[in-house]
Amino acid sequence: MTILILGGTAEARQLAAALGDRLAFAVTVSLAGRTAAPAPQPVPVRIGGFGGPEGLASYLRDQRIDALIDATHPYAAAISANAAEAAAVTGVKLLAMRRPPWAKVEGETWIDVASIADAVRALGETPRRVFVTLGRNELQPFAAAPQHYYVIRSVDPVDPPLDVPHATYLTARGPFAEGDDRALLERHRIEAIVAKNSGGAATYGKIAAARALGLPVVMLKRPVLPDVPSVETVDEVLSWLDHALTFSTARGV
Ligand code: NAP
Repeated sequence: MTILILGGTAEARQLAAALGDRLAFAVTVSLAGRTAAPAPQPVPVRIGGFGGPEGLASYLRDQRIDALIDATHPYAAAISANAAEAAAVTGVKLLAMRRPPWAKVEGETWIDVASIADAVRALGETPRRVFVTLGRNELQPFAAAPQHYYVIRSVDPVDPPLDVPHATYLTARGPFAEGDDRALLERHRIEAIVAKNSGGAATYGKIAAARALGLPVVMLKRPVLPDVPSVETVDEVLSWLDHALTFSTARGV
């Protein structure tokens, strides 16, 4: 079976590693090309957009892909929609692997917002010290609130920097431990956090640290994703693929 994994997440890498040494599967991981030095992958990689759902459909046909696994980040809604559309028009089997969102626990203050502009408004007029963990290309709305002091963490440098007088930039790639994130929040005397509800363990440290320190989290709502078959774990994807392989072998396909 030829498999295309839409990646850009740790789970996609883990899935590729689990499939990489199985002879029944020829696996390629696709990355958008957002980060300058992506983490190494255990299987062949292709990089860059496909050119919308039509481009992805052409790729699936040209490369004779049997199964498409959408293992992208839960906030990468455009590529997930494209995957659903391309799978529908080509008849390629599609499975999404999606992390369940974090649930708010006792003692946490979450301010749920629908957009980054709403997140900026939720910070209020009074200057605050804010820790921001969004993508480096999503920060522009914060320029509308230059009264705050921002600590911004991203994988690659924010270039050009935000047009605000008080900002500190940190470049780092997860996973992040709770203890380290707590130390960071204390060092910068952070008063509020702006985050996505990414789910998973790798970036949960800041949420747990915020709870411990009694800090509010301005939480960006998850985008609506297409209604396609989906699972949560690498093991579930492997079972689905094994089932699909048995089925296609039985049909002699
Ligand atoms: P997006 O808004 O859903 O996608 C925008 C466009 O980028 C897509 O239409 C597609 O271009 C291209 N693209 C996205 N993912 C791709 C992939 N894996 N392979 C090839 N092309 C891809 O995506 P995004 O939110 O910018 O995220 C980009 C990548 O970063 C994703 O792979 C995602 O898993 C990863 N990531 C995202 C976040 C996040 O918060 N959004 C966080 C961590 C990692 P074409 O239409 O030209 O095909």
